[in-house]
Amino acid sequence: METYFLGTHRVRHLKDIIGVPTSPGYDELAAELDQIVDDELRRLLFPFDMPMFPTVPSLAKYKRLRGDAFPKAMTIYALDSGGYNQLALHGEYELSPDDHGGAAYRFAEDLGVPPLWAAPQDFMCEHDVIAKTGLTVWLHQQYTIDSLLYLRENFPHIWWIPVLQGWTIEDYLRHVEMYRAAGIDLTTEDLVGVGSICKRPSVAEIVSIITVLHSLGLKLHAFGVKRNSLPRIAHMIVSADSLAWSRTARDEEIRLRGCAHKGLCNNCLTWALQWRLETLATLVTPTQPGLGLEFLLPSGRDSPTIAH
Ligand SMILES: [Zn+2]
Repeated sequence: METYFLGTHRVRHLKDIIGVPTSPGYDELAAELDQIVDDELRRLLFPFDMPMFPTVPSLAKYKRLRGDAFPKAMTIYALDSGGYNQLALHGEYELSPDDHGGAAYRFAEDLGVPPLWAAPQDFMCEHDVIAKTGLTVWLHQQYTIDSLLYLRENFPHIWWIPVLQGWTIEDYLRHVEMYRAAGIDLTTEDLVGVGSICKRPSVAEIVSIITVLHSLGLKLHAFGVKRNSLPRIAHMIVSADSLAWSRTARDEEIRLRGCAHKGLCNNCLTWALQWRLETLATLVTPTQPGLGLEFLLPSGRDSPTIAH
């Protein structure tokens, strides 16, 4: 893995990242890791040039701030579609395709830095999303391709990446073929997103999907990948992102000592950086993970446990 994006809903985070105070212990942990990691991983550890991952719908909420008044990005970033929340809540995207593409152009201008790349309006395939849209997995896959083709044609100054969606491995492989039929050979793309993995309870499923897609020679970005699956897939992906630090702060009622903001640290960059550093630290801890064959049965129940 070359890049680990920090998910955020706050455009100001892209500016505030420079000079954000780090929490007690951060410097020590960073220094300790610095002793044992190679140059490639070292680049991932420190808050300058922190790759950020805002969503288009969250940035689109900044309607009144424009131009010079808009917070200027002090770091690199890529744009997420925010599709899971959009589809799970509304069953469709609130922004039209033109609004989505136009928003990416606007952020390149207003933030003062274009995104490294941007996701199209992809249609993820988690069960709750499929239930909400009322569409089939095949249609979700086709709409994802349609969005990419539209955005590439009409907003060509942004690097739109193809995104694979599905639920089973067979779904993902079919989606690769659907792209090929649409004239897009994913093996020649510089980056291919993998969606519908962030809400899966089974790490084994995530590892299987990434392994198969990696074996096709695809250069992968793993969307919203779980912290506990990262050590098992990091060697097979180019990049990943996570906003889990925010939910973790809410679920575990985290408030760092010394924080001056109100409430919990669910919008706190200091906590976000600490969480990110701790996550990356798991990549350098030499462990032999179990096979973790905790696949789910089609019914959604856990596999029967093997008696020892
Ligand atoms: Zn805080």
